[in-house]
Amino acid sequence: MSEILVLVGHVAGQVGKPGLELLTLARELGDPVAVCAGTADEGVVATLGRYGARRVHVVESDELEEYPVAWVRALAELAAEVSPAAVLVESTPDGKETAARLAVRLGGGVLTDAVDVRPGPDGPVVTQWAFAASYTVTSRVARGLPIIAVKPNAVAPAEAPVTPSVTRSALPLDEADRRTRIVSRAARESTGRPQLTEADIVVAGGRGMGGAEQFALIEQVADALGGAVGASRAAVDSGWYAHSHQVGQTGATVSPQLYLAVGISGAIQHRAGMQTSKTIVAVNKDPEAPIFELADYGVVGDLFEVVPQLLDEVARR
Ligand code: FAD
Repeated sequence: MSEILVLVGHVAGQVGKPGLELLTLARELGDPVAVCAGTADEGVVATLGRYGARRVHVVESDELEEYPVAWVRALAELAAEVSPAAVLVESTPDGKETAARLAVRLGGGVLTDAVDVRPGPDGPVVTQWAFAASYTVTSRVARGLPIIAVKPNAVAPAEAPVTPSVTRSALPLDEADRRTRIVSRAARESTGRPQLTEADIVVAGGRGMGGAEQFALIEQVADALGGAVGASRAAVDSGWYAHSHQVGQTGATVSPQLYLAVGISGAIQHRAGMQTSKTIVAVNKDPEAPIFELADYGVVGDLFEVVPQLLDEVARR
């Protein structure tokens, strides 16, 4: 079976959920070979094995975060050695940059923002959404190595335990590797809430909230349920909440177990970012709001009456 190179990120001994999703998807295409940078400890390797990585390559250098060119060189050298049928990366700004740099080095083809990848007779067939998911596009890379950037939450991570073989290699940096250096990374202030794209529960507010202060209500519900806060673009454009919380076509794609849309009309561009949520609950005073076409449960009413009742009910349980 052909091998699929999967780029996996890990922080403080924890493999990110998007990496586990990539491994799950890679198993449909071939034998997953996980690649990670830094010092991946035994716990990281065990997690990768639990999600089906038959081989794990650890590029042991603590400089790779700083020097993206060196990371891509390491990947290119590995790809030359492994001859994978495809490379999977996360469709994030960093992942897409890596994909593009790698494709230039290897003469491969890049497809980004994939929401699904299936095996095909002539290579992996990639599904993407266009125009806020109004259209589904299927494509494949016709020439060179397919390098596919997959959106977080495209699939649910599923375990398939194997015992991986592990290779650790050092990567001495050369002069060319040091041409581009990342000078600083600023971590976002932690709210103590889960990451929007990884949360099982997302509580999102829209223009119906009426102002930045009223988003405290959304935060209270999120905290009561252990969820993340999302926002519509109207709320973000009004300056009520940070863009990093925007859900939709020009924001994040989420696929939680529960999505609670409060004062959000359900415009097509918003739906593009949340329509694959497992259960959708909407609170809106307009019974004709398009969000109700999508919602599993809907409450027609004023959110400033409904949401406090919801909070009371959660507190009682
Ligand atoms: P509105 O459409 O104004 O809806 C507010 C809702 O709140 C209404 O349904 C109203 O009935 C309800 N409401 C008001 N007061 C109350 C109350 N007291 N109680 C209960 N309900 C109440 N949008 C996104 O969200 N994400 C994107 O990524 C995104 N990308 C876009 C990209 C492009 C290229 C374009 C053109 C648009 C994009 N948009 C995006 C914008 C999108 O078209 C909508 O304008 C936006 O989603 C509307 O946000 P909203 O639902 O909060 O506001």
